[in-house]
Amino acid sequence: MQLDAAMLVAALIPSWSSVLLLASYLVYLAVAGTILPSKIVPGALLSDGSRLHYRCNGLVSLFLLLVLTATGVYMGWISPTAIADKGVELLSATFIFSLFVSFVLHAGGSRSHNQSSSLKPYVTGNFIHDWWFGVQLNPHFMGVDLKFFFVRAGMTAWLFINLSLLAKSYLAGTANLSVFLYQLFCALYIIDYFVHEEFMTSTWDIIAERLGFMLVFGDLVFIPFTFSIQGWWLLQNKVELPNVAAIASCLIFVVGYLVFRGANKQKHVFKKNPNAHIWGKRPKVVGGKLLASGYWGITRHCNYLGDLLLALSFSLPCGASSVIPFFYPIYLLILLVWRERRDEARCSQKYKEVWAEYCKLVPWRILPFVY
Ligand code: NDP
Repeated sequence: MQLDAAMLVAALIPSWSSVLLLASYLVYLAVAGTILPSKIVPGALLSDGSRLHYRCNGLVSLFLLLVLTATGVYMGWISPTAIADKGVELLSATFIFSLFVSFVLHAGGSRSHNQSSSLKPYVTGNFIHDWWFGVQLNPHFMGVDLKFFFVRAGMTAWLFINLSLLAKSYLAGTANLSVFLYQLFCALYIIDYFVHEEFMTSTWDIIAERLGFMLVFGDLVFIPFTFSIQGWWLLQNKVELPNVAAIASCLIFVVGYLVFRGANKQKHVFKKNPNAHIWGKRPKVVGGKLLASGYWGITRHCNYLGDLLLALSFSLPCGASSVIPFFYPIYLLILLVWRERRDEARCSQKYKEVWAEYCKLVPWRILPFVY
């Protein structure tokens, strides 16, 4: 028992090799994001009338990193299980890094005299609050927009952790249908995220949240290390998935994907061109500002419903013997219900009677006839 605790503490202290791995990864992403060809996407209009421009080249950065890693593995320079082998160490290295970054963001942001919407400090004086939620909307470092960068780093890391877990399962001879489905669903979700990376520029995190510990930790630590819990769990637990459960998982994934991607796409297209057709028809628009057609005419956050179904599909391949692989859908349910409440409050304040009219027209929040 004492030995186990000592081993855990030892594993929590990152070795130089895991620090180096993390640093190389972040430097690679920063350099690749800066120099690789990119679609430049204008961000939302900020309150001072300015607009940021985002370099949406996450997909090409991801594929180049995959090619480089595959070459390294093929040449014998890197072990395919390196990430999975250093799991706890990498987790603690990333956690320490996100703590460090959030303190630097707090210190630097609080001292800023910049009055632009992106860099103006919003300081309440309550250190914990300011450190947690952040003080600046869009801080950057050496020309890299940090908020956009950290989401990219978290999503890319999720895929690499999963691939390393897949390699470990394969080498251990435990790769089976459950492992395959979990890996496939997550890989499709992550690649799809990067195909549509520009949609991220109109999301709540990018538009409204300041960059503090909550987002830094969420992006860098929480996304890659907890969204992959099913993969870690499947390393230790063999699941014989019945065909009917496999088919149900696939169906839930497909429906979830259609709703998630469809809803986010409709809003994105609507913001760019409010007259663009939705499901082949002219859109119904409330007060000239809010879309009430397509998915946005079914519930006020159908995109959350799609995401929840997707999250469920990532866990179903693990069967029902344990609650641990269901951490992600349970967490997401709590997060999205909370987020939906915060977004409602924000929209109601921003759109006032137009929002009230939209709520009358579309009474359901996330799941029709239930919530
Ligand atoms: P949304 O993309 O739903 O953005 C909400 C904003 O959209 C509102 O603040 C408002 O902004 C605008 N809006 C709301 N209703 C309408 C409407 N009817 N017509 C036009 N505009 C409208 O929320 P999020 O940014 O929270 O989520 C984006 C995606 O990211 C979701 O699919 C979500 O599931 C996913 N997500 C996933 C997480 C995870 O951990 N897996 C965590 C968080 C989000 P405005 O003021 O610009 O009009």
